[in-house]
Amino acid sequence: MSALHQARCFNHAMREAVARCPGCRRFYCRECVTEHGDRLMCAACITAETTSNAASGSGWQKVIRCFQALAGLAIIWFAFLLLGQTLLEAPAQFHEGTMWRQNWFDME
Ligand SMILES: [Zn+2]
Ligand SMILES: [Zn+2]
Repeated sequence: MSALHQARCFNHAMREAVARCPGCRRFYCRECVTEHGDRLMCAACITAETTSNAASGSGWQKVIRCFQALAGLAIIWFAFLLLGQTLLEAPAQFHEGTMWRQNWFDME
């Protein structure tokens, strides 16, 4: 006898388990599991999976979310770029005919 036949349903202590839910790894009787995709899962895990799918949205929403994340990164990158340029330009504006510019001409 395999462990599966000795196991009892998680919901019905009197019933023999026929399947093990891949989601929660508990044993269930035929009545308690439902075919979900190509697997037998318990109702709780199917609900959890469908709600998490609904929360993460459709494929398009994922693409949009990914795009938003990239856009956010681009904005941060652009902000740092502007900040860096401002910092680089600031000394040049402060010292007109600056040292580093003279050095540059000396090297030519
Ligand atoms: Zn489950
Ligand atoms: Zn059951």
